[in-house]
Amino acid sequence: MLRTHTCGELRESNCNEQVTLCGWVQRSRDKGGLMWTDLRDRYGITQLSFEEGSTPAEVLETARKLGREFVVKATGTVVERYSKNDNIPTGGIEIKVESLEILNGSKVPPFIIEDDTDGGEELRMKYRYLDLRRNEVRSKLQLRSKLAMAVRNYLAEQDFIEVETPVLIKSTPEGARDFVVPSRMNQGEFYALPQSPQTFKQLLMVSGFDRYFQIVKCFRDEDLRADRQPEFTQIDCEMSFVNQEDILNTFEGMTRHMFSAVRGVELGDFPHMTYADAMRKYGNDKPDIRFGMEFVELNELAQNKGFSIFDQAELVVGICAEGCAEYTRKQLDALTDFVKRPQIGAKGLVYVKCNADGTFKSSVDKFYSEEDLKAWADKAGAKAGDLILVLSGTANETRKQMSELRLHMGKELGLRDKNTFQPLWVIDFPLLEWDEETERFHAMHHPFTSPKAEDMALLDTDPGKVRANAYDLVINGVEIGGGSIRIHDRATQQLMFKHLGFTEEEAKAQFGFLMDAFEYGAPPHGGIAFGFDRLCAMFGGSDSIRDYIAFPKNTSGRDVMIDSPSTIDEAQLKELGINLR
Ligand code: ASP
Repeated sequence: MLRTHTCGELRESNCNEQVTLCGWVQRSRDKGGLMWTDLRDRYGITQLSFEEGSTPAEVLETARKLGREFVVKATGTVVERYSKNDNIPTGGIEIKVESLEILNGSKVPPFIIEDDTDGGEELRMKYRYLDLRRNEVRSKLQLRSKLAMAVRNYLAEQDFIEVETPVLIKSTPEGARDFVVPSRMNQGEFYALPQSPQTFKQLLMVSGFDRYFQIVKCFRDEDLRADRQPEFTQIDCEMSFVNQEDILNTFEGMTRHMFSAVRGVELGDFPHMTYADAMRKYGNDKPDIRFGMEFVELNELAQNKGFSIFDQAELVVGICAEGCAEYTRKQLDALTDFVKRPQIGAKGLVYVKCNADGTFKSSVDKFYSEEDLKAWADKAGAKAGDLILVLSGTANETRKQMSELRLHMGKELGLRDKNTFQPLWVIDFPLLEWDEETERFHAMHHPFTSPKAEDMALLDTDPGKVRANAYDLVINGVEIGGGSIRIHDRATQQLMFKHLGFTEEEAKAQFGFLMDAFEYGAPPHGGIAFGFDRLCAMFGGSDSIRDYIAFPKNTSGRDVMIDSPSTIDEAQLKELGINLR
């Protein structure tokens, strides 16, 4: 080792020891006769001190040459500081330097490498290796490492085997666009990068591995948002001889372990809610149940009273915002503007104030009597002092809009505390989803998900009604993981492909290998995958997964540091048999 200690290690108990430290120059202060330099490494900061008269002249001369981010090796004696710095663990001591070696110089960095930096996002991404020197950034990746370790410990303990699956594969149908890689040896043919290892993990079950996991990169060529990256990481798992309940229990256990090992949080219950209930009560398949504000359907009470907008609506639905009856005109207008934003698309917002004196005031007083409004309030469980907000229209759209309004109100009322974690299993997802654009049914999860046995008969008569053995783990309104019990026989898998509009030949060409495997003793199996980047972000209390990825891509899918994607030269193209013109 070039050093005896790290820059975060020394304390007053080390006084008088001879030590050697290595690190980066954070900054220097030169007061003429006295000079101090903060030396930084991943473990902390230690102050070096130099003094005219007592420090050897050539050491002082070298010290005066140090610039920000120079890499140095300093040897000296640990001494107690005159004025201590209580903000850092090494603040009681400094090193009286006796010899100093510059291991490497540094150009002036393009931004300040401290917690508070002057560097903008784009600049920091271009010099990500410097950005990663900052505590704040590095600590996020340390959290990621800890979380991965907790996952591995738990799953190894439960007899899971970690298996790597290939990266150059053929298309997997998770519903997104594939990234493709041209094959030089098979010109005109392409590999696809896996959207997930789905078919491979199922094949490992056919192979008798029984319990598989992998912390694995997956690739989806989608338009990017703050919480999406073209390459992202999943904790991918599969188990044999299990039913849905077994999987939910196993991964409730894993989630509990992660929270307790990494955050010191003991999670409460993991309630189960059907997809149908989630949509009806919260208008959302990943409801944030840290707070109530459940939907109340008001059709029966609000229709046929002369208010044509409600009369024509498929759904009239309200939520009760506790203690908001005093909202001002301005606040109510802001809420109306919020739901009318094009992203939400409501036409208007009706309110009912349940006044403290027991009277009611609404924006539709013309059509409804006090008794009418009282009946709404009773149904909504609203007390004096509460505010009821009502939307109407076609059922699906109105539920979506109300879900946005509910989340907005939850935030406004401080009901979405970042340090409270409320898990929820959403179960019984529909097997199929109608796609207006292609006028076809798509698999809501993926084509390998098994329908519920009791709904099988509906496949021919009312396919949209068939429920799947599929589940999502939601925490605080964020989808953390999802999976299903799989189909494990050829006939059902073939039937599923037929319903998804595949011809027999197409199904065979794409997934023949899986259906063949099902004919050689495939065990019943099921699994789940967790979005690892998103989990990290949730543990770190952040909305963006990008912070938790060492070298992320920007929203145009570019890595601005290595400048990728980029063109390749003619010779490479020729070798691949690709002609761009
Ligand atoms: N492969 C699925 C996904 O990536 C997860 C699963 O069904 O296990 O969404």
